[in-house]
Amino acid sequence: MSYCVSRFHTVRRRTVEVKVGSVGVGGDNPIRVQSMTTSDTQDIAATVRQSIALAEVGCEIVRITAPNVAAAKCLKDIRARFTAAGFGHIPLVADIHFLPSAAMEAVEHVEKVRVNPGNYADKKKFAVKEYTDADYERELQRLHEAFSPLVLRAKTLGRSLRIGTNHGSLSDRIMNRYGDTPLGMVESALEFLRIAESHGFRQLILSMKASNPKVMIQAYRLLVQRMAQEAMHYPLHLGVTEAGDGEDGRIKSAIGIGSLLLDGLGDTIRVSLTEDSVYEIPVAQAIATKAMSLWAEGRDEPPLADSIDPYHFVRRETATVHLADKITVGPEQPPRVITRTTLAELTNPQSALRHPQLLKDTPAEGLLVPITSTADLAALKSAGPSFLVLELAPALTIANLKAHAATLPAGTVLLRGFAPAEAAALTAFAQFAREHQLTLAAEIAPADLAALADTLRQLGDTAFIFTLPGTGAARPDSSHGHATGAYRLLAEALRRIGSRAPIWIRNTPATAVRPGADFLSKLLEASFLTGGLLCDGLGDFVSIETESDSVRATKLAYNILQGAGARISKTEFVACPSCGRTLFDLQTTTQRIRAQTGHLKGVKLAIMGCIVNGPGEMADADFGYVGGAPGKINLYVGKNCVQYNVPQAEADARLIALIKEHGRWTEPT
Ligand code: SF4
Repeated sequence: MSYCVSRFHTVRRRTVEVKVGSVGVGGDNPIRVQSMTTSDTQDIAATVRQSIALAEVGCEIVRITAPNVAAAKCLKDIRARFTAAGFGHIPLVADIHFLPSAAMEAVEHVEKVRVNPGNYADKKKFAVKEYTDADYERELQRLHEAFSPLVLRAKTLGRSLRIGTNHGSLSDRIMNRYGDTPLGMVESALEFLRIAESHGFRQLILSMKASNPKVMIQAYRLLVQRMAQEAMHYPLHLGVTEAGDGEDGRIKSAIGIGSLLLDGLGDTIRVSLTEDSVYEIPVAQAIATKAMSLWAEGRDEPPLADSIDPYHFVRRETATVHLADKITVGPEQPPRVITRTTLAELTNPQSALRHPQLLKDTPAEGLLVPITSTADLAALKSAGPSFLVLELAPALTIANLKAHAATLPAGTVLLRGFAPAEAAALTAFAQFAREHQLTLAAEIAPADLAALADTLRQLGDTAFIFTLPGTGAARPDSSHGHATGAYRLLAEALRRIGSRAPIWIRNTPATAVRPGADFLSKLLEASFLTGGLLCDGLGDFVSIETESDSVRATKLAYNILQGAGARISKTEFVACPSCGRTLFDLQTTTQRIRAQTGHLKGVKLAIMGCIVNGPGEMADADFGYVGGAPGKINLYVGKNCVQYNVPQAEADARLIALIKEHGRWTEPT
């Protein structure tokens, strides 16, 4: 049973409608956008102020943490004052960890309660214990007793519940049986669903969040597949936790949430940024709008299949191709970055692209230049020693190339489109490339590959890179197909003809769902397409051709590679978005630590606001900076707390000392 109707079109998953107050989620409702306040919940005025600010920028559901019964009691006043301010139509949600007593209080006052199955009825002890079937059954019975009162009260009051599983905060019971895996996350949620259903309660929404988009994508897909097996059709709340701030936070969120929305999954979304929550809303709205514009009706045609495993990451196996000096693509190589530029920029000695230190660890590895005439070919003489990718206009012939062969350095890639009837031209260009130690990047629509299959087989894998036509026909059809589906089709078509040639993911105006002029729109489009495909294991080259500033486009490509975990070029930050439990100013602390440690390529640092959830949710970070008490920081190496209650003024220096002690420090250049 598949988790989605189509991997090539966005056919929305059918769900039951769940009412959160007056706001419908799932069913035929639009994707709902939500966020969370960050104030101390017991500061009622501040929490109402933040709720109003969120509602005024378009937030449709507001979540508020309720860390204890006292905070949960405050929700009564918060609800009343928010309603009095004219926002009675915006539902409030209580966020609960650990304390059923806080949930029982909160459910009296707000429209929805979120519980974390990892800690609702379980104290996490990281205990290593083998659970026999009888032990496990006893634990489930205990869970039933702990969760049932909330279910029954929610049913009486007409509230809804979210079963909000987080990677990294699973119960010891689940960890021991399934590990900290997408399967463990799914099983954890199913246990709670079954209890709710045993009471005839179905006002349920599910989430499977993780800070790693790959884990999050796999967990949601698996959840849907498992729910379908049990005839459960509950809506999904999508989010990437601890995504961080700025460009990186937006990219990680767009990769995770965008991939699932393209699959047709997801009914309400939260973009978690380590910024004021009001900044989350425009990003979430832009993501939701793009996804909804792709919704198509289910089709009568038999569903196409591809051979990518949607539940486990496996990188597509490719042939090794050697390009320019030191640039190789293949199984052991990271995806390479190609940057679109112009002949004028390429031949300008002052161009930023000619000064690698401007891009430091993120150089434009291949420079893509449009070549429209023989004069352009001649001008390449002054291009310098760059690795070039020449986008050849159809009018340029083999004779033209032969006449200027001396201007084409070994390793240069020739990019050209081929129609099904152009087998002879394909052979001629491939042979010319081979004779001159060049590589041919062939733009071929997936549907045309079969017609050229014999020619391609004769020429062999190492002669080629494949990509989609960059200026049109990138979608499987003109109406609702998406570019991600087109690349999946390309990979599948290559598999069927036995080709292991590398694939180049190009972001061009033709691949955009809604080509937009603003940078956020380009960033989201590129994250949807490139990030999602990388998480599927596809992609050996990437280029962001929708952004005309070549330095910015290059940096964006590297940031997407980092966000998808495909290529690490800088420090990885995992930072929680903050909430009412936060014990220090997360935004300024994150920025300060980033300024000191942002050059530590490959090091993963977590900055988390509290010890209640922080340590569990900082996933596989190498070092952690976690609020332990007001003004006090706990420092972690991996999952182990190695320094408790460090005065905040000393914590940055102690963190750096720890990084040095563990041999992970380098001096900034
Ligand atoms: S880790 Fe951050 S967002 Fe999560 S509960 Fe603690 S302070 Fe709140």
